[in-house]
Amino acid sequence: MIGLRVLKESITSLTKEDLTAWMKERGETAFRSNQVLDWVWKKRVSSFDAMSNLSEPLREKLVEAFDARVLTHVETQGSKDTTRKILYKLRDGRYVESVLIPANPALYGERSDRMTLCVSSQVGCAFGCKFCASGLAGFTRNLTAGEITEQILQTEELTGEKINNLVFMGMGEPMANLDNLLKGVEVITSDWGLGIGARRLTISTSGVVPGIQRLADFPKQVRLAISLHGATNETRSKIMPVNKKWDVSELFKALNYWNEHKKQRITLEYILIKDVNDNLDEAKVLASRAKEINAKVNLIPYNTVEGLEWERPSETHCRRFEKELVNRGVFTTLRFEKGHDIDAACGQLRLKKETSDGLIEEAPMKIKSS
Ligand code: SF4
Repeated sequence: MIGLRVLKESITSLTKEDLTAWMKERGETAFRSNQVLDWVWKKRVSSFDAMSNLSEPLREKLVEAFDARVLTHVETQGSKDTTRKILYKLRDGRYVESVLIPANPALYGERSDRMTLCVSSQVGCAFGCKFCASGLAGFTRNLTAGEITEQILQTEELTGEKINNLVFMGMGEPMANLDNLLKGVEVITSDWGLGIGARRLTISTSGVVPGIQRLADFPKQVRLAISLHGATNETRSKIMPVNKKWDVSELFKALNYWNEHKKQRITLEYILIKDVNDNLDEAKVLASRAKEINAKVNLIPYNTVEGLEWERPSETHCRRFEKELVNRGVFTTLRFEKGHDIDAACGQLRLKKETSDGLIEEAPMKIKSS
């Protein structure tokens, strides 16, 4: 059974330090680890056999110890010029999805070269936010660092696009998998790896306070987004169980700590759900919270999720909510475009995928704009 098979580590999980230590244990120099990293991240070969400047015995040792690739492309949905959703199969038969989001010219100008990938960090999620099907399906497992970094590597190969912006807002709570995530960030931001600047990485959380504090102490200038979705304990606790563990005041203490340690402005993500969190009094509290930490607010009209009862407020009401914030001096964005709103909150949906033998497997999120 595949689930019982002991899986090898993936080469795409390793930092330069890890690989150099591995080489050293086998009597090899750091130069060899540089060569391997060059093959993996620059020349992008998908097998150790292709690493032609390594000796055969070393290649054999690498094959024995590591898998060269751990994601298999299953399908890509979406048109060439817009958001594309890419489904990958993991070695244990689970699925993970990444979402490629080209810059919206209306927001970034015709010449914007921003190419964002929304990356997943877990299979499923244990946090159970009421509006999110990833949460409803429960938690399966953390992704390894390699399963995180390969989403970028393979998406670039599949689409021919150069990804220069990352949001960790796919399936899962990134802060609940912080060890693997930070290892992945090391690979992603290093010159020997994917070479994407730390400032181009946004890590999202539903409000895991210890994770925010740890990330604030992390030396790279990554960005932080909070899936807030409620400015008061009353509202937030209704839709986000995480609020019972770390309430709004504890969360904002951690965000103030973040501001003391990082130069990056925090983003508060706020999905507007009809009659749940879209009251204009809530907007006033949200405005004062945002101002307290000098955060910008990203409003996302709710996207209908099959099987969930929540509804999107009318466009007029969304604009009214936005105005309450803007009038109080809060930098606010409100987006209605299809597809683009998926860059604004962590995992939203899971789809069921029918296999050739008729079984129904769980596969991650299909975003449906209402
Ligand atoms: S919104 Fe994020 S943290 Fe909440 S259940 Fe979904 S994936 Fe998990």
